[in-house]
Amino acid sequence: GVRTRFAPSPTGYMHVGNLRTALYTWLIARHAGGKFILRIEDTDQGRLVEGATEVIYATLRKCGLTWDEGPDLGGPVGPYIQTQRRDLYGKYAQLLVEKGHAYYCFCEKTESEEDSGDFNRAADPCRDMSLEEARARVAAGEPYVIRQKIPNQGSTTFSDAVFGDITVENKTLDDQVLMKRDGLPTYNFANVIDDHLMGITHVVRGSEYLSSAPKYNLLYQGFGWEVPTYIHCSPVMRDQHNKMSKRKGDPSYEDLIAMGYLSEAVVNYVTLLGWSPRGEYAEREFFTLSELAEIFDIGGISKSPAIFDIEKLKYFNANYLRSLSPETFYEGAEPYLREAVKSPGIDLKLIAPLVQPRCDTWLDIAPQVDFFDALPEYSNELYCHKKMKTNEENSLEALGQVLPVLEGLNDWTYDAIHDALIGLAEKLELKNGRIMWPVRTALSGKAVTPGGAVELCHILGKDESIRRIKLGME
Ligand code: GLU
Repeated sequence: GVRTRFAPSPTGYMHVGNLRTALYTWLIARHAGGKFILRIEDTDQGRLVEGATEVIYATLRKCGLTWDEGPDLGGPVGPYIQTQRRDLYGKYAQLLVEKGHAYYCFCEKTESEEDSGDFNRAADPCRDMSLEEARARVAAGEPYVIRQKIPNQGSTTFSDAVFGDITVENKTLDDQVLMKRDGLPTYNFANVIDDHLMGITHVVRGSEYLSSAPKYNLLYQGFGWEVPTYIHCSPVMRDQHNKMSKRKGDPSYEDLIAMGYLSEAVVNYVTLLGWSPRGEYAEREFFTLSELAEIFDIGGISKSPAIFDIEKLKYFNANYLRSLSPETFYEGAEPYLREAVKSPGIDLKLIAPLVQPRCDTWLDIAPQVDFFDALPEYSNELYCHKKMKTNEENSLEALGQVLPVLEGLNDWTYDAIHDALIGLAEKLELKNGRIMWPVRTALSGKAVTPGGAVELCHILGKDESIRRIKLGME
């Protein structure tokens, strides 16, 4: 059966690109009815960030990406944290040395020399050292690394489900380090061993690993192991030329949630960054996670980099917010409403349905409703509205007529307020707007409000409405 793994390094927040990798990995497993495995790759101890593993767990959970095996759940091929597997890599490195696909190297190299990749294997005195000599030096306690022995001749072909077959000349590949001086494996070695031992059938990762894939293939071949299906995903970009980057201020998943986006909308949008549905779903944009699992296919993953467009995400989010049931919307909106409207007399449940059709994110709520708490300063120019045929003079006059009507109203229900205000307009033979506009403006100090005059009166309550109308008449 299909087994996929998400193998994050706990080095910080969950970037949009990481989340997308997790999503595709999960979707491939779920679509096939296979297993999704979580493995924490923490061998690069220098880059670890405290709390990062918790962020990974929390993000996956919030997005609904349940895993079948992992550090917390255990499973048949554990442990699922790389540093807890440290003792099992050495014997595989030895095995490769014996098979002639790796060698002990005693040269002193700094990490940056190593990273520069311009390792000159022809000049390396250790590559062709006899195994006896190497073993004697190891036994004598000399420090060493174990390097992959890439063939000098020939080429290596690997095949990627997104990028197709890629062939590289072996002489362009470097004899990368497999085991470090401290006895820990490099990521490049550990991922191959772990993927094999964990029975991973599909490896989904960022295309920054494409250039390493031939070396991984040579390792699989060296062991005589079956190569998994590679699925390399192009980066998520902030614009035509630059990858998304936390340093440049691009949001992580956590940031997006703090910016008022719904997890479901983020998941939907991010899945479509680099994958498109085909066939009967080709034109569709909105999918739940389980619908995605149903239709996800590797063939729909794109080779070209995708650009993260916050406006597009906003569009998705607005749609998600609008389609929530009133109860679910209220549940999500309550903390944002409560933060903006502190007056205990105001029933937030009455405000929620008024803002539901009017926000793209949760953060759009507060600026629309803060006037319920405190009337902003405003000028009487607000009373002038061409279409309503209101001006300052006739508005103040209207408020003067509204005041006794509202004061006399004992039943402060929506219907009673509505009938009283409409009744007044009829009696005075005025268009409704001539009454409603001044009332709404006086109650809110704004030209645009969620809800009209009647809703505002109802929500504010009788005393506060009358107080604000009196203020508006000054
Ligand atoms: N730990 C690697 C990363 O976070 C995983 C790459 C892979 O999936 O093989 O980039």
